[in-house]
Formats: sequence, C-alpha cells, structure tokens
Amino acid sequence: MKRTQSEVWFERAQQVILGGVNSPSRSYKSVGGGTPVVMVRGEGPYLYDVDGNRYIDYLAGYGPSILGHAHPAITSAIQEAAEEGVLYGTPTPYEVEFAQMLRAAIPDLERIRFVNSGTEAVMTTIRVARAYTGRTKVLKFAGCYHGHSDAMLVAAGSGPSSIGVPDSAGVTRNVASEIVTVPFNHRDALKEALAAHGPELAAVLVEPIVGNFGIVPPVDDRYLADVIDLAHEVGALVIFDEVITAFRFHYGSAAQLYGVHPDLYALGKIIGGGLPIGAYGGRQDIMEQVAPLGPAYQAGTMAGNPLSMRTGMACLRALSNPGLYDEMARRAASLVDAAESAARANGVDIVVNRVGGAFTIYFGREPVRDYEAATRTDSRRFARFFHLLSDRGILIAPSKYEAWFVSAVHSDADIEETAEALEAVFRDLARE
Ligand code: PMP
Repeated sequence: MKRTQSEVWFERAQQVILGGVNSPSRSYKSVGGGTPVVMVRGEGPYLYDVDGNRYIDYLAGYGPSILGHAHPAITSAIQEAAEEGVLYGTPTPYEVEFAQMLRAAIPDLERIRFVNSGTEAVMTTIRVARAYTGRTKVLKFAGCYHGHSDAMLVAAGSGPSSIGVPDSAGVTRNVASEIVTVPFNHRDALKEALAAHGPELAAVLVEPIVGNFGIVPPVDDRYLADVIDLAHEVGALVIFDEVITAFRFHYGSAAQLYGVHPDLYALGKIIGGGLPIGAYGGRQDIMEQVAPLGPAYQAGTMAGNPLSMRTGMACLRALSNPGLYDEMARRAASLVDAAESAARANGVDIVVNRVGGAFTIYFGREPVRDYEAATRTDSRRFARFFHLLSDRGILIAPSKYEAWFVSAVHSDADIEETAEALEAVFRDLARE
C-alpha cells in the first residue's frame, strides 16, 4: 500500500507538532515505529488517508465514533448548531435537555455537570469525593487509564496494594503517594488495601468494564457489587469511570449491566457524538459539594457549549434505536469467530476478550483478567498483526492494550471483508 503522502505529512508534522502527534497513543512507538497513517476524510465505517487509501475503521477515534463518520444525524446537528452560534457563555436549553436525556438513561445521575474531556470529568469526581469525605487517598486499579491529570498518572508499579510512585515525570511524589493501586479482578488484594488504607480513602475509582489494557470485564457478576460494598464499608465513595463504557454496550451505563449503583460517574467519548465532551454526575448530596452550591470548585469556558450538547443529543437519539446494540454485538462476534478460526488454522495462539461490540485480540495463551496478564502477551506479534492489517486496509489502534470497536454502521459486507483480511494476516503471521 502506497503511503508516500502520509510520510510527507508526518515529516512536516514533526517540524511543528511535538512528536508529530497531538496524543502519544497515535504514534507508532508501541508497534515498532513507523509512520502513522495520516487521514483526511471519514465516511460511514471508512477512513481515507492522504494517499487515497481506504480503511475499514475499528479505531473509532478511540471510542466516540460509534455512528461511524459523517453520520447524517451528527452532521445536521452540527450544521444547525453552527447556524445559531456555538458559544453563549450563558445557560442554554440544550444543556438542560441533554442532562435530562442522560438522567433518563442513567437514573443514578441525579445531578450532572458537563466538562470538555474525560480527563476533566475524572479529575473532578476525585475532587468532589475528597470534598465530601474530607479524606485524601484514592484507590485505583492497575492498568486502568483515567486521563492525564496528575494523580491519575500513577500506575501499579511494584505489586499489589503498593503506594503509588509517579508514572510520569512532572508528577510529584506527594501526589503519587495519595494513590493506592491494586490489581483488577482480585478481591483479596482489594480487601488487603482497604484494610490498610480504608480510613484515609476518599474514593475507589474503577473502569467497570476495563478498556485500557484491552477489554477486560469483571471476573464474575458479583465483582463490581463487592467492590462497591467493600468500599462503602470503609466509608469511601465509589466512582465509575464510564468514559469508554457509557452507551458503548447498551443505551446506558455499564453499571446497569451489573445492577449496581456507584456514587459518582465520569462520562465522555460517545456522549459527545465525536465532539469534545466530558461529564460527571451522581448522587445529589455528593454533587452539592460543587460550586456554586458547595465549596469544591469546577468551571469551564467551553463546558456545556451548545455545539457539543446538540451533537451529543443527536448521537444518543440515534443510539436509542432498538436493536442497534444487538447488531454491533453480532457483528463483533462474527469477527471474533473469524479471528479465532484463522488463528487456529495457522497455529497462532490468541486469546480474545469481547463485550458486545468491543473486543481485544491478545497474542498468548493465558486468559487476560488483569493488567499483569495483558503485559505478558506478545507485543512483537501484535505489532506485526497491526501493520499487516493496516496494509490490508483495516485500521485498529497501534497498541496491544486497546480495543476493536464495531460501529453501528459497519455492514455485513465490511465484516466479511475484514474477516478475509484476518484470514490472510494470520496466514502471514504464521509464516514469519
Ligand atoms: N477515562 C477512560 C476510561 C478513558 O479511556 C479515557 C481516554 N481514553 C479517559 C478517561 C480520558 O478521556 P479524555 O481523553 O477525553 O481526556
């Protein structure tokens, strides 16, 4: 596949944009290097690069593009909003209607605030939890990503329940020392950490279905309920980071799939229909910590802007179409079948985790239920897999820790074409 124009543009990019990318995950660093494909246009399930190559897109902008690209509902919402002005700096009916829509879908969202990114949403839920409880520490799960606010850039490091060390230069030890990390899906490690730090914990923060070391669901149907009960026993609040999961698997939250009720939620991605957005919300008495009602400050010039609100509503309206999620899950299942049978036929070991329309293909034999297991999967083989797929016009994220997202506009023909590419790619992988 010819990519000369991508190379030209990426060369130019590096002269002005640090590293040539506006988010590090877009670089090809974790797939052995190379020039990222530079895209110019999207339409339905396809993206087109600067050389005119077409790709079937399973990256979905890292999640938000559940309606594919340039969906008519999204395009007309943006056009209508643009014609009436995109920012007023005052209350608007759109933010009220959108908040009502979200609360109707997820009744736990008794009060909501809109922000501009998932990072902001999570960062603020932590502030609110600290304000409400008067405590400082936060427990998170190893390998879960919650945006790039200082406190959230702390990973597991050394073993279960270790007190965090900063995972990024520029994050101070003081900030890191307030984060307790435990492995996901291990009740005992959680219990130990709660026993050790319980009285100091403001919140337990979790991706209810993990999306950031691949798709990793809770180990059983009781796990999330136990996380909530155990956290509440020590007086900590529970925050679900549903930036990826809300409206991904059904018209609502992941919490609803497990019949559980966290105290606070962070939302983002899909709810913006592709425009910048974040939101947080939850129990009214907790949310009342936030200014102007309470002492915890959070604000935003662009927060709740009419453009994002109207586009987000258009996206959710389209997603409320019954049957859409079943179709996405069915199509994802058939891709997984194709990958598994091609892998088997060619003697390549893979393990697949799938929830609804999202899945991750890991190279290895061991089931992946926590971050450590994900790290042990074969990075080199994934890198080859990624490049071979890309050469056949299939776009996925350039990292073994990400997911394939099947959208509402992938057709059976797209799935068939992808399945054929998978067959060819596993044949090539086996030969190497
Ligand atoms: N939380 C989760 C679970 C995420 O996956 C992400 C982004 N991938 C974020 C928070 C941060 O969102 P944003 O990139 O919009 O700041």
